[in-house]
Amino acid sequence: MNKKIKWVIGFIIGIILLLVIYLVVTQKEKYFDRIELPQTTMVVNKTQLNYLDSIVYVGISELHLTPTVIVLRELTDKNQPTGDIEDLKLMAYIQGKNHQYILNIRKMSRDNSLTVISHELIHLLQREEERFIAVDGKIIFQDIEYTIENMPDYKQRPWEVEAYSKQSKLRKKIEKVLYQSRK
Ligand SMILES: [Zn+2]
Repeated sequence: MNKKIKWVIGFIIGIILLLVIYLVVTQKEKYFDRIELPQTTMVVNKTQLNYLDSIVYVGISELHLTPTVIVLRELTDKNQPTGDIEDLKLMAYIQGKNHQYILNIRKMSRDNSLTVISHELIHLLQREEERFIAVDGKIIFQDIEYTIENMPDYKQRPWEVEAYSKQSKLRKKIEKVLYQSRK
């Protein structure tokens, strides 16, 4: 083979290797710090994503909630509910009241789950404070009753407006705890 062609091929392989190394290094997952888990909250994680329970533990403690049991379940196309409880394009939804909840959540990256869980924990807070009550197919939020007849569009629902407006602040608080060694 021509010496020049060998050099060109070698150069191209070198560039590809560097690119692969760069991608591997930059895509590396940002693992959480080891943290002391609060004794008052019990998280039962039935999903395959072990980082979800750290986020929930820290989120619950940042919201200063009373002792809470929360089960994490994987949400799939097969077990997704029908009807009008869509949340975040059905990435997740929460069920329960009185310190006992089920958080149904799709498989997603660590980064996305920080946002989605923060959103869902705001809904959990609304339920704990009894500002959000789901009963007999209707929703009562801050003493106003919502049924199929007067249900606003998803993004206009007052409990969603609140969750979207508060989720990033909670996410930042959770990140501050889980990534405390980075700053
Ligand atoms: Zn929501």
